[in-house]
Amino acid sequence: MERKTKSKFLKVRCKCKNEQIIFGKSSSKVKCLVCGKTLAESTGGKIKVKSRILEVL
Ligand SMILES: [Zn+2]
Repeated sequence: MERKTKSKFLKVRCKCKNEQIIFGKSSSKVKCLVCGKTLAESTGGKIKVKSRILEVL
């Protein structure tokens, strides 16, 4: 599974099974729209994905 975060969009799955498209260069935290869990955090321009990456778009 590709885990680089260069790509612009990532499809991730939260533990609550919500699937969400997130932006790969977000400058803020990305939260699950369903349960509010943090899916990814910003680390100096890149994001650190804390959930399962399903697909790199
Ligand atoms: Zn969730």
